[in-house]
Amino acid sequence: MMQLPKLTGETAVFGLGRSGLACVASLVAAGNQVVAWDDRAEPRQQAEKLGAVLRNLTDDFGSPAQLIVSPGVPLTHPAPHPVVAAAKAVACAVLGDMDLFSMALEASGLRDKATLIGITGTNGKSTTTALVTHMLQTAGLPVHMGGNIGTPVLQLPLPDAAAPNTIYVLELSSYQLDLNRRLHCDMGVMLNLTPDHLDRHGDMAGYARAKEALFENDKCQSLRVIGMDDAPSREMFERHPHEKCITISSTHTQGDIYFADASLHYGQAEPVVLQDCLALRGAHNGQNAAAAMAIGLGLGISADVMAASFKSFAGMSHRLQPIARHGALTFVNDSKATNAEATRHALAAFDNIYWIAGGVAKAGGLSSLETQFSNVRAAFLIGEAADGFAQSLSGKIPVEISYTMDKALTQAANQAQADALAHATILLSPACASFDQFEDFEARGVAFQAAVASWVSAQEAGGAA
Ligand code: ADP
Repeated sequence: MMQLPKLTGETAVFGLGRSGLACVASLVAAGNQVVAWDDRAEPRQQAEKLGAVLRNLTDDFGSPAQLIVSPGVPLTHPAPHPVVAAAKAVACAVLGDMDLFSMALEASGLRDKATLIGITGTNGKSTTTALVTHMLQTAGLPVHMGGNIGTPVLQLPLPDAAAPNTIYVLELSSYQLDLNRRLHCDMGVMLNLTPDHLDRHGDMAGYARAKEALFENDKCQSLRVIGMDDAPSREMFERHPHEKCITISSTHTQGDIYFADASLHYGQAEPVVLQDCLALRGAHNGQNAAAAMAIGLGLGISADVMAASFKSFAGMSHRLQPIARHGALTFVNDSKATNAEATRHALAAFDNIYWIAGGVAKAGGLSSLETQFSNVRAAFLIGEAADGFAQSLSGKIPVEISYTMDKALTQAANQAQADALAHATILLSPACASFDQFEDFEARGVAFQAAVASWVSAQEAGGAA
């Protein structure tokens, strides 16, 4: 656990998920006076056990000197959360767990023995964070991964005082970047920027501003890696010129590192071939691997080690993950595709797709996917978005309104089996948030897996191929 300094006055923690509870534990361990609240009773009890005093901060904010909020709490849009508004009214600083992590590093006196790599973008953050971590591990470097992925940052160990450098690879969402303004990364990756989370950031400009916090105030002096495949990212590149910048591209020769012919190209260097890297299928993963390669170059990792690590990368659950095969059918779980841009890449990666989509629709719906519809045999629509999506897809591809995951999977798999093509993909890539029917995208992916397992075992029991 990271040792925090003792802060002046009372510290309030609002939002007691895993990272909020880690904040409580670290703050209490440093002798701070901590009040905490969450709308759910169970984490409140855990915070109390850790030594926090419980106070309903929405009704009785009091006068803490600083408020630590979880990234899910709205700061500005659609309206500031009442607790955030109360903090602003009494000039109480609003911080996040990454800010505390920065304070802990500074207080330890070991900041100069740490390299912080921040990774952001609309899509590909988790994959790139995991890939960079895997590459650094393969290179034998001391590395810890955290942030929006895996371990809460305050539970990571401090830098090893005996080692010259400990590397922290941090996945950073736009919510975290907006909140944790004190976090100062040494290297930053901005993969791509397409419409998402506009309710929380007001509009695209607000969303871009939140992401840009990665580079503002002279942050990321050691290396900046910026994707060139969309206009908002290119504009960010132009607004933040820097001598140590490597641009990346997944589609053409616009980046310093670009993906073409299943390989990464960089100047006169021998291309790094991704053909056999099963977990890095598709041009979008070419972009993620290009980002990892840029970081590798920045840290002086050899091309051979990079290539070996791309090959041994196991990939991540719920992201274009092949989960089962039955005869000519392959079942692919891409539950993490919570917006149209992520799904566009999934639809481009296969043909003969029986596509399960729907949930809570995002702004823009499915309009950006039309160029990929030639790969889709039929769509099976679930959740809140089912009726609206059916209307927008009508006349473009055959559509079934299934509403539930079980029904969608059964209809999709039965139809694919009846069509008897040489190969077909049953793809869950919802282009939607999950919370109308599931706890989160992981629960949605698990429900898909369960439906697939039960369909496959019914087929096997029936003696089908
Ligand atoms: P994030 O953490 O940013 O949500 P993930 O790595 O979890 O990103 O991937 C989320 C979804 O986006 C998956 O459906 C995945 O296939 C797709 N995806 C991954 N990398 C990219 C990329 N560079 N560009 C567009 N889509 C991507």
